[in-house]
Amino acid sequence: MNTCPICHAKLAPVCSRCGAELTPLIRIIQQSQVWLQTARDYLVQGDYRQALDSFRQAQSYHRTTLAQQLESFCRRFNGVASEHFTEL
Ligand SMILES: [Zn+2]
Repeated sequence: MNTCPICHAKLAPVCSRCGAELTPLIRIIQQSQVWLQTARDYLVQGDYRQALDSFRQAQSYHRTTLAQQLESFCRRFNGVASEHFTEL
């Protein structure tokens, strides 16, 4: 979300068009981005379980299509990895 949810002007702490106070919204988006960064770091390390948990946390703050797809990927890959390890 890069725009004011009310008038769709560029996102800013106080909307330049409608004057809405958007600081709480920006903080929520930033928290989601922190979780996405954490998820990405776990993904790079190959820790799909932790990445999945972090993508879920990110989604709890701000749902995006990309994060949903990556969460789905981790859920599937984590399941495949778990099946693989139980066969050993
Ligand atoms: Zn606005």
